Amino acid sequence: MNKSDKNLPNLMPIETALTNMLQQCSVIDEYEDVPIINALGRINAIPVKAKVQVPPKDNSAMDGYAFYVDNELPSGTTFSIQGQALAGKPFTQKVKQGHCVRITTGAILPAGTNAVMMQENVKADEQSITLTQDISAGVSVRCAGEDIQYNQEIIASGEKLTSAHLALLASVGEVSVTVFRRIKVAIVMTGDELVQPGNPLQDGQIYESNRFALHGLLQQLNVQIIDFGIIEDSPEKIAEVFTEASEQADIILSCGGVSVGDADFVKHVLNQIGQIDFWKVAIKPGKPFAFGKIKQTLFCGLPGNPVSSYVTFEKLVTPLINKMTGRTSVPTWVLNATCSSPIFKRAGRADFQRGIATQDEHGEFWVTPNGSQGSGIMTSIANANCYILLDEDQTNLPKGSKVKIQLF
Ligand code: AMP
Ligand code: MG
Repeated sequence: MNKSDKNLPNLMPIETALTNMLQQCSVIDEYEDVPIINALGRINAIPVKAKVQVPPKDNSAMDGYAFYVDNELPSGTTFSIQGQALAGKPFTQKVKQGHCVRITTGAILPAGTNAVMMQENVKADEQSITLTQDISAGVSVRCAGEDIQYNQEIIASGEKLTSAHLALLASVGEVSVTVFRRIKVAIVMTGDELVQPGNPLQDGQIYESNRFALHGLLQQLNVQIIDFGIIEDSPEKIAEVFTEASEQADIILSCGGVSVGDADFVKHVLNQIGQIDFWKVAIKPGKPFAFGKIKQTLFCGLPGNPVSSYVTFEKLVTPLINKMTGRTSVPTWVLNATCSSPIFKRAGRADFQRGIATQDEHGEFWVTPNGSQGSGIMTSIANANCYILLDEDQTNLPKGSKVKIQLF
């Protein structure tokens, strides 16, 4: 696999790493009922079947006049107005021959009518109307059950509930929905050099930033975050915090300390208090990655470099968390684009370059890498709008090459 990157032996392909991880995790098998107003972004746990049909009755799609049409009626036909039907205030008599009913949008179609002429297409006075257009049976009528039929499945299990889903649930009269419980994710930043923003920096220190990216990314996955903040590079402290985190969380994410440096204790600690697979994954940025367990709690050790932790979170941790949360269908759209500048790439690792994509007047996408692609260059990702997806074996690409992109 690794012809041109001889100094990086035994890299595990990203798909293999992901398959390994997904095999070792299972869906959190616990549910809760939440009021639908609070259910946005939660994962539906049980297929929802409609207990009513929508709309409940045939009703008018327009403000106008309802009457009976036997097949078709020509412009010039006249009707006497027998009464009115309003939304919420049905007309209860049967409509007589040669008569119509003034009707508003959403009002139940009165017995004996089967079409509605919108008011713009009639000449009307107090007592009667004359059609100014032809009309056929069924026009401007919304039929009972045309949206949702009784007992129809409206939301599958594993769906992430959108605003539209909430409205759909309300439209069939549900007050709550059964969802998977939110998973608990502990996050731990390691590094003696890390300082919380708001404090002055001493020599050798930097502001801790990965935690903020992780909060944002985790919020999008609608999990419960247990934040252990920054801890120093000490095996004892790391062991203490990881142990505590494992008692509270379903999965622990740590940042930093997973390489082979003198202060990289994560692997060592995991070997003592849990079990760990330490991988060099063929992904750029983000080579060092640790995956394991402390008792029943999953563990992912992300690299410390800001871009590496961000990309490994999106490409390796997100699918894992999606599975745990019960989410089943997660669309990932990949688009074709043309490079508007050359792309530099060595064979050996799948590269997720941060790019700036634009769409021209023909709808075609063009893309260029967003500046330096170093794993510490956070501006490369913050000001980009897509990943440029480059396979392991891919080498340099000249301007004009076709590539795959994934919009953020
Ligand atoms: P490490 O993986 O611990 O060797 O860290 C790799 C690089 O990422 C070092 O330059 C660290 O200072 C930096 N780094 C580690 N953790 C963080 C963090 N939470 N926020 C910002 N930079 C970090
Ligand atoms: Mg470190």
